[in-house]
Amino acid sequence: MASFPFAPRRMLGGVLLLIAASAVAGLLWLVFARLEGTPPTVSLQPAVPAAVGPATEFTVTVEDPQTGVGRLRVELLQSGREVRLLEEAPGSGGIFGREKTSRLIRKVSLDPRALGLAEGPAVLRIMAEDSSWRRFGRGNAVEHRFDIRIDTRPPGIVNRAPQTTVAPGGTGLAVYQLTEPCPTNGVRVNEEFFPGFGGLFPEDPLLHLAFFALPHDAAAPPAILIEAVDEAGNRAQMRFPAFFRKRTLRRDTIPVSDAFIRQILPEFEGLPLPSDAGLKEKFLWINRDLREENYRAITAVTRRSRPEILWEGPFLRMPNSAQRAGFAERRTYLYADRPIDQQDHLGIDLASTAQAPVPAANAGVVAFVGPMGIYGRTILIDHGLGLFTMYSHLSATAVSPGERVAREQILGRTGTTGLAAGDHLHFSVLVHHRFVDPLEWWDPLWIREHVLQKIEAARQGAGTPPAALPAEGGGRSGARRPARGR
Ligand SMILES: [Zn+2]
Repeated sequence: MASFPFAPRRMLGGVLLLIAASAVAGLLWLVFARLEGTPPTVSLQPAVPAAVGPATEFTVTVEDPQTGVGRLRVELLQSGREVRLLEEAPGSGGIFGREKTSRLIRKVSLDPRALGLAEGPAVLRIMAEDSSWRRFGRGNAVEHRFDIRIDTRPPGIVNRAPQTTVAPGGTGLAVYQLTEPCPTNGVRVNEEFFPGFGGLFPEDPLLHLAFFALPHDAAAPPAILIEAVDEAGNRAQMRFPAFFRKRTLRRDTIPVSDAFIRQILPEFEGLPLPSDAGLKEKFLWINRDLREENYRAITAVTRRSRPEILWEGPFLRMPNSAQRAGFAERRTYLYADRPIDQQDHLGIDLASTAQAPVPAANAGVVAFVGPMGIYGRTILIDHGLGLFTMYSHLSATAVSPGERVAREQILGRTGTTGLAAGDHLHFSVLVHHRFVDPLEWWDPLWIREHVLQKIEAARQGAGTPPAALPAEGGGRSGARRPARGR
């Protein structure tokens, strides 16, 4: 009983000691934790481009899971100047770091002109520190430097081709020289873009060729522009000099009978035809929906083309054949004497004897072989620079994808596969995603005047400096500049 007063005192001492020890341990742990030596990580999205244009934006992400992001600074260094783009110090978030910023995401806008920066080289510097107590409380630091080039000037475009005539469904060729490499360049016809190809003339890698096409039903002259976007994103456009020749669509009516639909239906077995619908609806699905789907598949094939001219001379028309249907015929389909559909025929139908051999119209590389819905068994040949020929309704094929073919080489045999009433070859020419009039490509005179002479003139002029280039900031050549952001 006498020991009663001592026991709590001893206990109290023990508790105090424990508290003190815990406090020391806690403090040690805190100091240890706050002295962590892992610097923050910095990532950029998208990666900083080598060339920085008039409006470049990127996102900086700084991460430091241990003590949090202490500071972020983004600057541009150019000939002794330091231009601060961003500075932020979220801080340690209290002594225990409960409010620390483990991840800091900031968008950085870089407008060299607004910042008064000069054209040419510069360094983008990104510095980040965490909230560690290392380096006498300044934290672990990391620094990234990126060599960049400030470029806010649109590229120069010099037209190298004489004024030409273009018609609906026709092909055009633009020849132009650029003043700097442009990852995107080509011809824009209204909203459609036809990519150009450079590197064809070793003496002049900035000389480009671009085939383009006018819609087969264009009623008014479209806006045709040569367009180039440089590495920094500066865009330039210039009007392509062309006369527009009007052309009226030929019209035709095609009666569709139940017997015809029954005859062609087996061709489309296995496809998702509307099952509980009548013959008319089944035909409409084939003629409309499947046609559209096939067009998408064809343009997916033509999206990639060899960056060289693989063909030579005029394109071959299947020998000993009679034309059964022409290009750009607007067909009205009649069912029980009533119009039910309207589609445009975008090739030329050639009939010969049944299962006649089909020669390649020109040299190229086989881009596609296989069934293609309404077109039946089909072959697509890539002739380079976006030019393709297509052979449809074939009964047999004798080539495989990737194979090089010579002009006149037999590709297969005519037939009735797909949506075909009788044995014939449906022959089409495409310029990138557009069906064009094959008559032009069969015509040696047209090819010489509209393609070969232009290329030859460009070849002879290659290597000569672009004398007609606009003065800096000026617009002598008619190049519209700047014209960014469509
Ligand atoms: Zn046809």
